[in-house]
Amino acid sequence: MTTEALPPRRPFKFLGGWLCLDFTNTCNWDDPSLEIERFRHYADVLDWHSAAGSLAGAEVAALRQQAGQQPEAAAAALAQCLRLRETIHRIFGAVAAGQPPAAPDIAALNEVLAAALAHLQIENDGTEFSWGWANPAIDLTQVWWPVVRSAGELLTSERLARVGQCGGTSCGWLFFDTTRNHSRRWCEMKHCGNLVKARRHYRRRKTAESSGPGG
Ligand SMILES: [Zn+2]
Repeated sequence: MTTEALPPRRPFKFLGGWLCLDFTNTCNWDDPSLEIERFRHYADVLDWHSAAGSLAGAEVAALRQQAGQQPEAAAAALAQCLRLRETIHRIFGAVAAGQPPAAPDIAALNEVLAAALAHLQIENDGTEFSWGWANPAIDLTQVWWPVVRSAGELLTSERLARVGQCGGTSCGWLFFDTTRNHSRRWCEMKHCGNLVKARRHYRRRKTAESSGPGG
């Protein structure tokens, strides 16, 4: 199916509680169909940053213009973006399962991180200092700089054990559990939680029926 024939892009959801986790929550990890994929074009990743507030408006506008002028470079950057999303998802999926992430995934993250952090700088608006990105030449790889920085910060955080993965079938989304007793199970209760409950209810009913009189 070409992207032109696809239904409109599904809305972005920011349920992960951490930028790098929300970045991975932009597709369905058990169903690779493009209908569910939120990152079909490079511009989709820019829209995601606008919604997340993780890149400044001027940066997004400049990247959008750049991508429009260099469609092949933008497509290559998107492909790299999707590979990175898989890497980050595997890393935190392992963490959520209590497993050590694979060394090649950490090496891949480190490689991208080194390139991204070379652009990190202190900015001063006259009253206070903040982190920003030095960007003398517009660089299409900028879409993952804040994401890999977020991944590095979460991996080294004391609260890493709070990373969890949705228990819904055909989901795979990751989240940062802020509940007091670490009880979060779903990306979204009203979606995955209810689906699982409905299936369980259906199975129970089927079992009750089949074991009933004459069953
Ligand atoms: Zn889910």
